[in-house]
Amino acid sequence: MHLISYAECLGEVRMLDMQDAREQLLSVSLELCRLGLNRGTSGNVSLRLNDDAGNGGLLITPSGLLPQKMALVDMVWMGFDGQVTGRCAPSSEWRFHFDILKQRAEVNAVIHTHSMYSTSLSTLRQDVPAFHYMVAVAGGDSIRCASYALFGSQELSDHALLALKNRKACLLANHGMIALGNSIENALGIAIEVETLCEQYLHAMQVGNPHLLTQQEMQEVQERFKGYGSWAENTSGSTG
Ligand code: 13P
Ligand code: ZN
Repeated sequence: MHLISYAECLGEVRMLDMQDAREQLLSVSLELCRLGLNRGTSGNVSLRLNDDAGNGGLLITPSGLLPQKMALVDMVWMGFDGQVTGRCAPSSEWRFHFDILKQRAEVNAVIHTHSMYSTSLSTLRQDVPAFHYMVAVAGGDSIRCASYALFGSQELSDHALLALKNRKACLLANHGMIALGNSIENALGIAIEVETLCEQYLHAMQVGNPHLLTQQEMQEVQERFKGYGSWAENTSGSTG
């Protein structure tokens, strides 16, 4: 059975305009707080966008502001040519948002959180193995943990890019997690799932050693996901 993709259904994906993007960044930042995935000023969000002149780049949340205090005009434009426009400083993590969106053409949205379970697990500096089939939503048979580096540093971005190879999510050692999507809804879905998986994995590890699925079993899950709901559009990574 061949199911056509959502994009094929629509014929074409409408390009976001600047105002849509500002609204999406604000509403997702608020939603992350409402869901408990971020608290205070932790975390940040970005979206791929073209500016009015057609130059490629991203719109990103401002640094150090509570989402409840953010205004639409506080979102910051960063062109891939290095041009920055906005009345606020861009998120201190603009480097990994910039590098991911520049290097991963299939990614349109990046979400970073300090959510409770992903962050707790990140302090163990271990990958999340295939203890549950839903690990496959992150694009493979593990969710890698990127090596530690100072927040906001180029080193952190380099580590994150490595951990995200063929993946839609990773943990950041002693820090939090990153989730990627071809839309902001997809990225939010991945972030929620990764946080849920980390909660389940931590619970299981408290009472024993979880049994892990084999590479073959995870490959079957990847195949099954190709025609399964919203994951079909956002699970193009490979196992390994
Ligand atoms: P910003 O407020 O600068 O986006 O920083 C929050 C954060 O999560 C840093 O890692
Ligand atoms: Zn952070």
